[in-house]
Amino acid sequence: RAKAQGGGGYVLFDRGMHEEALRRLDLELDLRRALEKEQFEAYYQPIVRVKDGRLTGFEALVRWNHPERGLISPAEFIPLAEENGLIVHIGRWMLRAACQQMRQWQLAFPRRPALTVSVNLSARQLLHPEVLAEIRRTLRETGLSPRHLKLEITESAMMENAERAIELLEALKRTRLKLMLDDFGTGYSSLSYLHRLPIDALKVDRSFVMHMHERAEDCSFVETIVDLAHKLGREVVCEGVELPEQAALLRSLGVEYAQGFLYSRPVTAAQAEMLIIEDAQRGR
Ligand code: C2E
Ligand code: MG
Ligand code: MG
Ligand code: MG
Repeated sequence: RAKAQGGGGYVLFDRGMHEEALRRLDLELDLRRALEKEQFEAYYQPIVRVKDGRLTGFEALVRWNHPERGLISPAEFIPLAEENGLIVHIGRWMLRAACQQMRQWQLAFPRRPALTVSVNLSARQLLHPEVLAEIRRTLRETGLSPRHLKLEITESAMMENAERAIELLEALKRTRLKLMLDDFGTGYSSLSYLHRLPIDALKVDRSFVMHMHERAEDCSFVETIVDLAHKLGREVVCEGVELPEQAALLRSLGVEYAQGFLYSRPVTAAQAEMLIIEDAQRGR
């Protein structure tokens, strides 16, 4: 939409572009203050065991309660935070919030099998020199056992610096937490790395699950990933499950875990607690 003007080489922005640039700048300034103003909130989306639909844990997903714009989706501000480095601070806050919350639930519901919490780690965080020490400290200070923490790392974040990522993942594995490869299938080079990555599970991206029930190729794709994962001794989580038909297919393919609107949208901590109680009642 920017028009280069003749030979002068300067660029004229149209009104729409100008407004977009201002909006972005505004958002960035607000984002810088959002942490101190406590505008972030952790939402929780259930992850269920496919074979019986039982609750096994939650993925923690950040939400921004903007005073004027309302709830802003991470799709809008995470890329911005990645660029300007704020993601390191937001991620640190999320990790602590999620670990604290899970520890609290475990203490509140001591009789049910322990739930796990999954936290997303961005590329920027992965390459941060203090990340390992910080994760260890957070576990120690919140009292959550590393066995109950899962870190989700996307294929593309991993590939930004694969050698370095593998080293860090190996160090993380030694602390005995679980590692998940997020949005699997959307990156490109990881197939050749898969056997070298010390990950516990693959999270198959929603874009493949979405059409499984109506497109045979998509179903074959998921089937192939599941077989590969199982042959390598990894488990599989499918994200974006919205329909019972999709869940039935996942069951027939032997997928271990599923996540999606069929079970629940991401909800507040208080609503998540109700889901824990409901699940406990089903189990008796
Ligand atoms: P993700 O880690 O792949 O998280 C799954 C996303 O899929 C979530 O979007 C979730 O709400 C959405 N989802 C789950 N089930 C369904 C479904 O059945 N249908 C549809 N249409 N969508 C579903 P959300 O919460 O908007 O987060 C988007 C992305 O933002 C996440 O993708 C993750 O990459 C990033 N993100 C969220 N929270 C954090 C965070 O604390 N740190 C970092 N680094 N990234 C985060
Ligand atoms: Mg994730
Ligand atoms: Mg994902
Ligand atoms: Mg995704």
